[in-house]
Amino acid sequence: MQLKTILNRIHKHRSFVYEKVRFLEEGGELALEAEIRPRANGRPKCSGCCAPRPGYDTLKPRRFEFIPIWGMAVYFVYAMRRVDCTDCGIVVESVPWGSGKQQATTTYAWFLANWAKRLSWSEVGEAFHTSWGRVFRSVEMAVTWGLEHRDLEGVNAIGVDEVLWQRGYGFLTLVYQIDQGVRRLLWVGEDRTMKTLLQFFRSFGPERSARLRFVCTDMWKPYLNVIARKASEAIHVLDRFHIMAHMNKGINQVRAQEAKRLKADGYVPHLKGMRYCLLKRPENLTESQEIKLAQLLQYNLKAVRAYLLKEDFQGFWDYVSPTWAGKFLDRWCTRTMRSKIEPMKRVARMLRSHRELLLNWFRARGTVSAGVVEGLNNKLKLTTKRAYGFQTFRALEIALYHTLGHLPEPAPTHRFW
Ligand SMILES: [Zn+2]
Repeated sequence: MQLKTILNRIHKHRSFVYEKVRFLEEGGELALEAEIRPRANGRPKCSGCCAPRPGYDTLKPRRFEFIPIWGMAVYFVYAMRRVDCTDCGIVVESVPWGSGKQQATTTYAWFLANWAKRLSWSEVGEAFHTSWGRVFRSVEMAVTWGLEHRDLEGVNAIGVDEVLWQRGYGFLTLVYQIDQGVRRLLWVGEDRTMKTLLQFFRSFGPERSARLRFVCTDMWKPYLNVIARKASEAIHVLDRFHIMAHMNKGINQVRAQEAKRLKADGYVPHLKGMRYCLLKRPENLTESQEIKLAQLLQYNLKAVRAYLLKEDFQGFWDYVSPTWAGKFLDRWCTRTMRSKIEPMKRVARMLRSHRELLLNWFRARGTVSAGVVEGLNNKLKLTTKRAYGFQTFRALEIALYHTLGHLPEPAPTHRFW
């Protein structure tokens, strides 16, 4: 069987035929070259408007890289024709296996992009003897196609989050869809200002924004402002994960201050390494952490009291009725304000001033599940970690859409991956 037969079986084009396939040696490596020519009766199509147009001339043959087989690079060789188009002028024809000036065939680009979901970009480059730039352009193509073809209807609930993406580089704003059963990254933008989030709403459109029923965020002021303006119909929910994160931050500050004070007083700093005992839920502690925690509780330290306040607050999430949850919240805040523990008092003040948004959590129950944003966040951290070395926002943006966006792909006629 000839390679030509295989190519015709898996990668056939209506107006073009494969000619000879031959070996060649490139820098001591074997490669394959398959010539392509147009069918005798086929008229070239204009790459500007896609209409069949009369031929103008033929350019020098050029190569398009296809998926490698058995350790050999595979190229298509084809002499592009130029057409004389009444609308576009003298332009190069469009061919079904490639686009524009890209050296890789579209199929090869999709192939690389799919591997880039499983491996880091440099690993993909190594595995297929190709450059990081080629992998990047392939993923970029896949993401561009996916964003153009994705369906944004039926988005009821969104979560807005901010993350620090690289030390010294600043923040990203991320918008997720968090409907039951559909969780995906909808949008990513640089920075975390009002302007950033406004950009999202502009691209999302006023009709879709008006149809939003739930918006889940952190207590970050610029976001709160924008959401009040742009999604006024939606119930704005403060996310459980973020609130507990604020509380953990408070405890950490108390612990750090306490450890410093104890050390200054000549005590052994017991609180060092205690961080995880205080931040973990009791049921998640290991046995030795449990012993450590028991020892720690013997001291009536501020850190311990802060910890107990946090543990007590967990009860808040078990309420069903917003009214009763509100009463619980008020009692907790009063108690915390009397605690003389400044970082915790700060948390209490913050909760008090966002009371209504907090209670919306109970109004949204069953629609927005608690850990969604947290789960997506962990996945995001994995991507940014794997993408370590991305110097530009563009590369990171592409990587995030690619791994978290659940973007559609064209249906292939043959599965190459
Ligand atoms: Zn044209």
